[in-house]
Amino acid sequence: MQDNKDTIIFDLDGTLIKTERLKDAFKQIAIDSGCTSCEADEVYKSARTAKDKEGTERLVFSREHFTKVLKEFLAQKNIEVDEIDFSRLESELSEDILLPGAKELLEEAKKHGIKIILITLGEEVWQQEKLKASGLDKYFYFKDGKKEGNVIITDNNEKVKGRKMEALRSNLDKNITGEGVTFINDKPWETRDIAIEFPEMMCYAVPEHDDERYNLTKFDEAQSQAKEGGGKFEGVETLEELNRRLFSKERYDGSRK
Ligand SMILES: [Mg+2]
Repeated sequence: MQDNKDTIIFDLDGTLIKTERLKDAFKQIAIDSGCTSCEADEVYKSARTAKDKEGTERLVFSREHFTKVLKEFLAQKNIEVDEIDFSRLESELSEDILLPGAKELLEEAKKHGIKIILITLGEEVWQQEKLKASGLDKYFYFKDGKKEGNVIITDNNEKVKGRKMEALRSNLDKNITGEGVTFINDKPWETRDIAIEFPEMMCYAVPEHDDERYNLTKFDEAQSQAKEGGGKFEGVETLEELNRRLFSKERYDGSRK
């Protein structure tokens, strides 16, 4: 247990924060502005990306971009709105958006002198906003001029597969096996692939329970496939449980010697 704790890499969305709640808030804002539920899904989805000058689809999600896409969509339906009401989102954007146990886990890591790193998607504005609102900006910093950061940002090119893996690979070059590194993520298949790629990295998959795309069976499947592939993968139900696993002191085993 002591071996993989020089560095802990945390995924952000769905791992430390309740991303599904934020998605729902955006969709509800679209509905309140005049969209149907299906249209709200569509607006949210198309607000995630935009094509750059070369025609490459880039991840560009932000509140501003969502507003633009929503207004354009509403205009097609002949609905005019001056201002989008973001109060539903505002009420979500506080420390309550942290998943239970997130802060305690980070505090514990700090207390043990462990280096912490955040890995997140390549669209900075919205990521920054979430970090600030949740109080995670106390732990994680973007690179700012000469000041080093501890946030790894993935490529924002939507067509590139396995972007998290690529981002890890280029940031962990000195330590390509993942030795000394623990990775905490919420998606089962992505975690499986990373565990296989970095066989010495201890990978924990902790489900975001609001994310209905993955049930616990999927985590079990991902775990056995990762292990077959030579990776270290454990599914853990909550961050609180993970905290106990990583940091609880060894208990007296009851045997008298
Ligand atoms: Mg995630």
